[in-house]
Amino acid sequence: MSAFPITYAERIRTLPPYLFAAIDDMKRKAIERGMDIINLGVGDPDLPTPTPIIEALQRAAMDPRHHQYPSYDGLLSFRTAVAQWYGRRFGVDLDPATEVLTLIGSKEGIGHVPLAFLDPGDVALVPSPGYPVYPVGTSFAGGTPYVMPLRKEHGFLPDLSAIPSDVARRAKLMFLNSPNNPTAAVASKEFFEQVVEFARTYEIIICHDAAYSEIYYDGHRPPSFLEAAGAKDVGIEFHSLSKTFNMTGWRIGFAVGNREVIAGLGKVKTNIDSGVFQAIQEAGITALELDTQFTDRIRSIYQERRDVLIPGLQQLGLAVGKPAATFYAWVEVPEGFTAASFTAHLIEHAGIVTTPGNGFGEPGEGYIRMTLTTSKDRLAEAVERIRKVGW
Ligand SMILES: *Cc1c(COP(=O)(O)O)cnc(C)c1O
Repeated sequence: MSAFPITYAERIRTLPPYLFAAIDDMKRKAIERGMDIINLGVGDPDLPTPTPIIEALQRAAMDPRHHQYPSYDGLLSFRTAVAQWYGRRFGVDLDPATEVLTLIGSKEGIGHVPLAFLDPGDVALVPSPGYPVYPVGTSFAGGTPYVMPLRKEHGFLPDLSAIPSDVARRAKLMFLNSPNNPTAAVASKEFFEQVVEFARTYEIIICHDAAYSEIYYDGHRPPSFLEAAGAKDVGIEFHSLSKTFNMTGWRIGFAVGNREVIAGLGKVKTNIDSGVFQAIQEAGITALELDTQFTDRIRSIYQERRDVLIPGLQQLGLAVGKPAATFYAWVEVPEGFTAASFTAHLIEHAGIVTTPGNGFGEPGEGYIRMTLTTSKDRLAEAVERIRKVGW
């Protein structure tokens, strides 16, 4: 009991209801009934972090120099490794001292960037369905999210021409995410060039989330936003070691691009956090310098899984595109179902946990998201179970 009424701040009270609580409840009930659960709900790699990265952490953790507060911006050596990696991978030039900022996971930077640029009432354009941190971070900063719906007709990319010009004029930030969670859509360099043009016209800071740039298939490497001409003049890109190197638990990511935007985000961070444990940054250097055979292997495992799940679902008559990147499948729910009712159907009858598309925003209604972070055999078993129970 509290000694007086504890009241939550408006920003907490007005958070959208946590849709996933209902799923957890159904999952728990299915487990109680003795059901074997196949979890295609979590977007967290099941594979371990490559050994050389773990060994680098072990070594660095022994060094007392790393036991103190890290610098706010991150070790210059880590930021240099980031700049070199961007050069190798994307052909993008970055100044490690001013155009790279270490983050405690990219979620941290995405959540904080609105604090640096939005005043109460300012608009941030957010893709929907999308990563919930874009609208929540915006609201926490007192800003107003304006939804850019991602629709099949438009290749699940935002339709910039559909944004009313008065909204565009009021907007200060735009979040983008390619390769996309949850739709798996990949933006082209040409699309990014249109974004740069739009940003210049309406004076909007672009925050592109590239967390999945290294999880791609069939040899088609997705471009960085910073490859578009002029991109560095209008925005930044968030990146993460989480998905690329199976390091979600390590909490290390980075932001790169426009130095003034980077400085604004850095200023927020200086005032509320103290940077990433330096031993983890040392391990991050090892990750970024790792032989590409490690990431090639991770990609090929996901690709094999994709090539079990997608054709399997398609043969059952479910409408799902083959993802060109990310470890997500964005599946249309069959006639007569909603995202929530199909999710419930799959848990109750087949023991398969998925995520209802509207959990990522209303335009995700009519879809469910399945993940490839489970073994090939389990994915084959999931397809088999859906075949048996039907819908
Ligand atoms: C997983 C994910 C991230 C990365 O999060 P970290 O905080 O770097 O672990 C960022 N954006 C999206 C869309 C994601 O799915």
